[in-house]
Amino acid sequence: MSGTILVIDDVATNRIVMKVKLASACYQVLLADSGRQGLEMARKASPDLILLDVVMPDLDGFTVCERLKADPKTADIPIIMITSLEDTDARLRGLACGAEEFLSKPLSEVTLLARVRSLLRSHSHAAELLEQARTPELEGFADAQTGFAGPRNECISLVLAPDGAGPGWANGLRTRIREDVRVLSRPEALEASKDQAQVFVIEADAQRPDQGIDILSELRSRPATRHAGQIFVVRAGEAALAARALDLGADDVVYAPVSIDEMALRLRSQLQRKRATDKLRGEMSERLRLAVIDPLTGLYNRRFGMSQLANLATESARENRDFAVLLLDFDHFKTVNDRHGHAAGDQVLRETAARLRTHLRSLDIVARIGGEEFMIVLPDTDMTTAAQVAERLRSKIEAAPVPIPAPTNAEVGVTISIGLAAGGRTEPTASVSEILDRADRALYAAKAEGRNQIVISPGQTAA
Ligand code: GH3
Ligand code: MG
Ligand code: MG
Repeated sequence: MSGTILVIDDVATNRIVMKVKLASACYQVLLADSGRQGLEMARKASPDLILLDVVMPDLDGFTVCERLKADPKTADIPIIMITSLEDTDARLRGLACGAEEFLSKPLSEVTLLARVRSLLRSHSHAAELLEQARTPELEGFADAQTGFAGPRNECISLVLAPDGAGPGWANGLRTRIREDVRVLSRPEALEASKDQAQVFVIEADAQRPDQGIDILSELRSRPATRHAGQIFVVRAGEAALAARALDLGADDVVYAPVSIDEMALRLRSQLQRKRATDKLRGEMSERLRLAVIDPLTGLYNRRFGMSQLANLATESARENRDFAVLLLDFDHFKTVNDRHGHAAGDQVLRETAARLRTHLRSLDIVARIGGEEFMIVLPDTDMTTAAQVAERLRSKIEAAPVPIPAPTNAEVGVTISIGLAAGGRTEPTASVSEILDRADRALYAAKAEGRNQIVISPGQTAA
């Protein structure tokens, strides 16, 4: 994975050693020799990761970390603090300042590089989500609605090893964090539902280290636990296992013995990270939904319907399969608006869309491609069947007037005309726009011949 890493350290030898290690792993390295210079370079160069020394003469690492996290321009850059200090207070202070990790010198190269990879990965994932959520293509389809900020059931799940240090954690954590803390067995963790799956703390099983670590990828492979945070606890000195855990996707690795205070801080930062990415993911799927769905009817919008049609045409040509395109237009819809009002007209469109959906298969594509024009694409359907489907839709719409609620209180009878054209195996040389054009001319013919009927494109008459 490529990435730019900023090293902030006042000692030249440290900077050079670090640069050699990181450059040999193909990272771009920037060097700053003081806290102030580090702050400046972080703002200017927006690195993907910062390695930050704690003891520096001008600004110490804690201050630099606090300022980086307080500045919106640099707040999202992950920080690894590095020091020769071994004391717990410094670790806690570093984590409390917002650092993602705290490593002690002498640094194990395996641990450092695994940690760098893991932080870069989660950082680039978050950046990607953010980027997608801001894609101009998705702009302007509707007001952003983010309706998922409701009350949530946050829960920490502890998966402990039989001979581990964990049993005391549950009680210790309960007094320090407000989220629910549960102890789950390994099978229970794999069965966990979404609300049990905010963050997992998993203790490596010294007896069966492989099994212990497999659970990380198992959890990632299940929909309910895919996005849950993972903190993996290994015994002091097990650097190789820690590195593997990070490479398997653990969000954080902690060496036991670990104080409850440190565990609580790490949990808090995982929960925060998870909340932020959940929110982005939610905004993203909402925006995607808004970008493809017509808000009045809930059908696909024109652009998405057309792209689905193009995909299906390509696939059908490749696999020599049939498909049919139906263009559907309401008859004299202007009259509906004139008689009952525009709101009633909207209600007719909504209700008809729902009826079309219930009378079609789930794999059929239904899109609103104009004001009162819909397109229906039937995969794997020959013209005989397509004509039956179209006739069924036409008669269903004609048979049941649409009730309009108060204050209008009307029953609005409407009819539709449908033009049909075949694509795929029957018309291997026709392009999508030719097929649409044929269906459109068939629709025009249906109108010309008196409306409330279906017309098949000439030469494609149902066998
Ligand atoms: P024809 O049988 O020839 O299709 O007649 P028509 O009146 O349906 O055709 P025309 O294209 O002249 O008019 C379409 C009407 O549909 C005009 C427009 O006001 C109405 N319409 C289009 N979109 C909407 C909408 O979103 N809501 C409502 N209520 N009416 C719409
Ligand atoms: Mg019309
Ligand atoms: Mg029309």
